[in-house]
Amino acid sequence: MTNAPCDCAERIAAAYLAQHDHPAASDSVEIYQTSLMSGLIAGVYEGETTLGDLFTHGDFGLGTFDNLDGELIAFDKEAHQLRSDGSASATTNDQKTPFAVVTEFNPSVEITLDEAMDSDAIEALIDRLVPSENHFCAIRIDGDFEWVSTRTVPRQERPYKPMLEAIAEQPTFDFKESSGTMIGFRTPSYLQGVNVAGYHIHYITDQRDGGGHVLNYRVTRGTLQLSVISKLRIDLPRTSDFLDADLNPADIDEAIRQAEA
Ligand code: ZN
Repeated sequence: MTNAPCDCAERIAAAYLAQHDHPAASDSVEIYQTSLMSGLIAGVYEGETTLGDLFTHGDFGLGTFDNLDGELIAFDKEAHQLRSDGSASATTNDQKTPFAVVTEFNPSVEITLDEAMDSDAIEALIDRLVPSENHFCAIRIDGDFEWVSTRTVPRQERPYKPMLEAIAEQPTFDFKESSGTMIGFRTPSYLQGVNVAGYHIHYITDQRDGGGHVLNYRVTRGTLQLSVISKLRIDLPRTSDFLDADLNPADIDEAIRQAEA
């Protein structure tokens, strides 16, 4: 993690933008999300949305499961559950989620990555390609990774603790020299609490034997795909847990930064 910052973000973005405009949001694609990130922070860990329902709005996205039972990653009509014991399994349509974000991924940017870049450099590249942070950006990276560091939330039982307490002992995982796929979003900062402001990325290996919520990584080669999205649809739970939750605490920004860092 001590690699000197490269100028590759600047260089790759300049080469791309010499031949293309900045990507713009498509007219038809929307982000669909169930519940709110502030709901998770408050300990609302049971949703009403099944994965079957969720995936009618798109097969690309991320989230978690009822009881905060691991990390969800979905793309190419497959979805996986990455649990805190390190296991990975295919999901079933009857599983429920208390928070998830999906879309139909139609990338308008595809860039070949042929030199090593860490997560900061990749984010700097995306920020140059899509300079306005006021729309969503859906992100996919397929590649070979020198290392990927992830964490996975641990399953909770009632009475539920707020998320910062629930994740105090969450395990982290380090994948060395692995190949896999990263799926995620850059969300506008004005949506902190509604969603996770900034970058939120999940990872799964090509072998589908591990992954999680990405903390940081270094990609050695691969493909970066992006799609800019300007529509957002949210379904709010009708459960008493949701109705009774304090969804606007004073420290929500700090809480989400701690929970999702
Ligand atoms: Zn996550």
